Amino acid sequence: MTAVDELFAVQDEDTAAEQIRHRLANLPEKATLEGARGARGATESQLEATRLERLELDRRQKRAEADVDAVVARVDELNNRLYGSGITSPKEAREVQEEVDRLRPRQDELEERLLEVLEEIDPLEVQLGELSERAGTEDAAIGAAEAAVAVAEAALEAELAEVRERRESAAAAVPDDLLARYEGLRGAFGSSTVAGFDGNDCTRCPYSMPAVERDRIKHLPDGTLADCSECGRLVVG
Ligand SMILES: [Zn+2]
Repeated sequence: MTAVDELFAVQDEDTAAEQIRHRLANLPEKATLEGARGARGATESQLEATRLERLELDRRQKRAEADVDAVVARVDELNNRLYGSGITSPKEAREVQEEVDRLRPRQDELEERLLEVLEEIDPLEVQLGELSERAGTEDAAIGAAEAAVAVAEAALEAELAEVRERRESAAAAVPDDLLARYEGLRGAFGSSTVAGFDGNDCTRCPYSMPAVERDRIKHLPDGTLADCSECGRLVVG
């Protein structure tokens, strides 16, 4: 192979490497992973909100239980007085009984309130259970997606390593000055930095060459590189 053939090979490998890097950056497996993480994040938000709601109900349950306990304790205390030996007059007995009678409906009301709180807790517990289960399923999906990304990346990295190796051996056969000219222009022209000459024009050029330029390139020794006067690419004479 001539130095120019090797330069074309360098260009081909550079193009291949770019395509692999593009595929690495745009892996469908990565999109799947992002989707899985997004779903898990949404579940986590719901879990947090539901846990907060659960905490608030816990607080209300404790308060309602304390209210019930206080009334029950007071009624017990009053009953002990009524049926014990501390009462000294019928008037006092009547007053104690009246307080017990007032407290009974109050106790019922507080117990009803406690029951309502407990009834709110039940469906929330079910919801928390479902959300936790969903989170577990989604964690597993993330794990699988991460593994798929790793496999796809490893395959492309291996391809990239082979491309680099081939590029290196091709580049070794290209004179340094030529390689430097190619590398300097590659940023502007990418995969068509080195172009062919079809006998009339640079094959990558949208423009026609002036006749003088055409003649100049035609008469260059085979395998010589010239700068295309129209587009600036490297043209193989
Ligand atoms: Zn050109």
